[in-house]
Amino acid sequence: MPATDEIDALVVGGGPAGLMAAEMLAEAGRGVILAEARPTLGRKLLMAGKSGLNLTRAEPRPAFAAAYTEGADWLAPILAGFGPPEVVAWAAGLGIDTFTGSSGRVFPGAMKASPLLRAWNRRLEKQGVAIRTRWRWRGWNGGSARFDTPEGEAAIDARVTVLALGGASWPRLGSDGAWAATLAADGVPLAPFRPSNVGFAVCWSPAMSRHFGAPVKPVRLTAGDRSLAAEFVVSSAGVEGGGIYALADLLRDGAPLTLDLVPGRAEADAAARLARPRGRVSLANHLRRTLGLSPVKIALLREAAPESLGDPAAIARALKALPLRLAGPRPLSEAISTAGGVTRDGLDADLMLVVRPGTYCAGEMLDWDAPTGGYLLTACLATGRHAGRAAGARLATGTGADGRPRSP
Ligand SMILES: Cc1cc2nc3c(=O)[nH]c(=O)nc-3n(C[C@H](O)[C@H](O)[C@H](O)COP(=O)(O)OP(=O)(O)OC[C@H]3O[C@@H](n4cnc5c(N)ncnc54)[C@H](O)[C@@H]3O)c2cc1C
Repeated sequence: MPATDEIDALVVGGGPAGLMAAEMLAEAGRGVILAEARPTLGRKLLMAGKSGLNLTRAEPRPAFAAAYTEGADWLAPILAGFGPPEVVAWAAGLGIDTFTGSSGRVFPGAMKASPLLRAWNRRLEKQGVAIRTRWRWRGWNGGSARFDTPEGEAAIDARVTVLALGGASWPRLGSDGAWAATLAADGVPLAPFRPSNVGFAVCWSPAMSRHFGAPVKPVRLTAGDRSLAAEFVVSSAGVEGGGIYALADLLRDGAPLTLDLVPGRAEADAAARLARPRGRVSLANHLRRTLGLSPVKIALLREAAPESLGDPAAIARALKALPLRLAGPRPLSEAISTAGGVTRDGLDADLMLVVRPGTYCAGEMLDWDAPTGGYLLTACLATGRHAGRAAGARLATGTGADGRPRSP
C-alpha cells in the first residue's frame, strides 16, 4: 500500500475548471493539492488560445444563459455568480486586459492563453496550492484517491475533492474521458459522450482541394428550423467553423444543410444579374463580376449544384438554397467540446456527487452543451468556482455554499 497524504482539499484536473476550484479553495485558506495527469497544466486552454482564446461574450445574462439550451436553467444560477462581467474582472485581476470584438466575443488583448495561464499559475503558487503533475487519478480505495505517479502509486486522503477532468475530445491534451468508467462503476449517472462544436465530413471531388482552408463568408446557413448568418471553412475533411458548430446538434440528428451564398440579395435580382450577356467571359468570371462570388463559393456551387450551371435562373435558385450533402460528424477526438458526462440528477445544487458526499464535479465533464463563442470557458470557470466555493463552505461549516446544512 502506498503512503497516504492527508490534505483539506484535492482538486483533480488542471484545466480552467480545476484551476478555478483550486483558487477558490486556497482563497478560503485551505490546504490544496492539485493533481494533473499531463506534465503541464492547461493544455487545452493553451490550444484554445491558438484561435485567440474567446473567454466569454458580452451579452445580457438571460441571453448568455440561454445559449446552454437544455442546461440553461441548471447553469443560470451558477452563471449569475460568475458570468461575462465577472470573467472580464477576474482576467483583469490577473493582469490580462480584454477587448470585445464586433460580435460581442471577448478576447484577451494578446489573443492567446499563455500570459493568462502564467499569471494564474503564479497566483496559485502564491496561495500555496501544491501542484502535482504526471499524477493520473485512478479512482478511490475506500476514502482515498488513488494515483499513478512517476514514483509509483500514491494515495491522498482529502476532506473534500473536486473532479474537473474535462470532456473526451482532443485526448492528447489530457481529457480522454477515461474517468467515465470509474464514475459509472461508482453509480454516478452519466450521459454518453457526443461530439459538440464539431466539423462535418463531406466527400469532396478532387476539384475542391484548391479551396481547403478557405473561409466561406458572408453566408446564411439553415438546418431544420434554425437559420443563421455566420461563416465556415472548407477543410480537407469537410466543413467546420462557427456556422457549422452552431447547427451541429440539428445536423447530428440528420437535418439537411442548405446554404445561401448570396445573403442580402434576392433570388430575382441574382437571376437578373446572371442573365446579363457574358460574351466570351468564363462562367467563373461572370459569377465573380455580377455577384462578387469568391472562388470557394463558385467551387461549392459547381460541387453541389452542377445541373444548374447552364441557366441563370437555376444558378440563382441554387445560390439561395444550395444543398450541401454531409457525411456525418467528424469524430469525438476532433470536436472542440464534448456533450454528455455527469448528469444533473447525479449532483446536488453545489455540484456535489449524490453518491459520494464531499466530492464535487466541474467543467466540461458535466452534461451541458453550448456553442463556441466564449460560452464553454465561462461555464468551466463558473462551475469550477461554484464547486470550489461549495467545497470550501463544507470544510468550514459543514454547510453548502448556500449556507444550508449538508450531510457530512
Ligand atoms: C481547439 C480548441 C479551441 C477552443 N477554443 C475555445 C474558445 O476560444 N473559447 C471557449 O470558451 N472554449 C474553447 N475551447 C473549449 C475549452 O478549451 C474547454 O471547454 C475547456 O478547456 C474545458 O475545461 P475543463 O477544465 O473542464 O477541462 P480541460 O481543459 O480538458 O482540463 C481537464 C484536465 O484534466 C486532466 N485529467 C483528465 N483525466 C485525468 C486523470 N484521470 N487524472 C488527472 N488529471 C486528469 C487533463 O489532463 C486536463 O488537463 C476550445 C477547445 C479546443 C479543443
